[in-house]
Amino acid sequence: MPDTEAALPTDDGSAPDVTDLVDYLDASPSPWHAVESTLDRLDGFTQLDETDAWTEIPNDGYVVRSGAIIAWRLPGETPPPHSPFRLVGAHTDSPGLRVKPYPDAGGHGWKQLAVEVYGGILNNSWLDRDLGVAGRVVGADGSLSLLNVAEPVARVPQLAVHLDREVNSGGLSLDTQQHLTPVWGVGSASSGEFASWIRDVGETSSDPTWWELCLYDVQGASVLGADHSLLASGRLDNQVSCWAATRALDAAMPVGHTAVVVLNDHEEVGSSSNSGAAGPFLESVLGRIVAARGGSADDLARALAGSACVSADNAHAVHPNYPERHEPGHRPIVNAGPAIKVNSNQRYATSGDTAAAFQRACERAGVPWQVFVSRNNMPCGSTIGPITSTRLGIPTVDVGVPQLSMHSARELCGVDDPTHLGAALRVFLDGDV
Ligand code: ZN
Repeated sequence: MPDTEAALPTDDGSAPDVTDLVDYLDASPSPWHAVESTLDRLDGFTQLDETDAWTEIPNDGYVVRSGAIIAWRLPGETPPPHSPFRLVGAHTDSPGLRVKPYPDAGGHGWKQLAVEVYGGILNNSWLDRDLGVAGRVVGADGSLSLLNVAEPVARVPQLAVHLDREVNSGGLSLDTQQHLTPVWGVGSASSGEFASWIRDVGETSSDPTWWELCLYDVQGASVLGADHSLLASGRLDNQVSCWAATRALDAAMPVGHTAVVVLNDHEEVGSSSNSGAAGPFLESVLGRIVAARGGSADDLARALAGSACVSADNAHAVHPNYPERHEPGHRPIVNAGPAIKVNSNQRYATSGDTAAAFQRACERAGVPWQVFVSRNNMPCGSTIGPITSTRLGIPTVDVGVPQLSMHSARELCGVDDPTHLGAALRVFLDGDV
């Protein structure tokens, strides 16, 4: 176990350069945009199509399946088919509000958008924010295009305190159907209005017929604090991990194994989809990588048996106003390195040996690390770690950057920790532990 005090970073006063992370976050208002932002940072990687025959595997390659991506780097020498994998997993999706298929709603002089809640949002965090629209649009001709309107288009207005006198003493109670419907204009709502707006702003080649569109806070990521020690943004959970994993893979130099990053969609809603961790995407791609190198079913079993996985997803930093919500002795602090997440009931996949391996990765990277365990009377969330480990049988450790306000429309973490995580993931993917 680490000495938490000793794990605090020494502060030489220099502000870390998180420009690239800020760019990644700002360019990724939806899972599909997060995939694009990842591709922008994988220099020279070659795309494979799942519908093609895979007779040859590029040294640096990737496959995209909707809002998920798997990318890999083979070792420099030609590896035998049964050579193992070193995987880092994270997820591209974040909780939020999504536009319904027939969204044109309103009344009382207001135009409103019907939205569906995606995942476990903090309802109140979506109030009184300037919201943009981003995601995927399907045209009448079947064409698929990304859309990002990074302007304030909509807002969920909170009820004035004068009309809700008990709100501060009794707590804010929001019905997700009645109270989270944003306004996006004034006048009478008319059917088809949102679709024609999409056509105009998206400059789509044909009329939009279907969409998967997220509302998001258009305020960009900010370095925060008088000492510039914090980072505030939407979607820190889990795009911080996606960014760190992507940077680690782009720099990795694996020896004797294949370095893999898998960024799944739909973690926030249980991972059961064709692009989620409970689906067959990763198993299929790993199997085809082995098969394309002439490997048998036995070679795949050998490869998986020798593999290791880091599941990276943000952790709960101790909140100064609610320190009692954390287990004593296991309270992650911001800017004190990634937290190794332990849960003997297997909500996290961490075992003693996988924790020890990640500890070594941190130490070799020269970054601090810490431990998170939840209180017995406060069950923790879960990650793709146990799901991936269950599907493939690969020993896995769950780790993550400590943050506050998880699942808020705007979250908060330490400015150093994403870089700490990326450095440790690089050592892991290199195979130096
Ligand atoms: Zn997460």
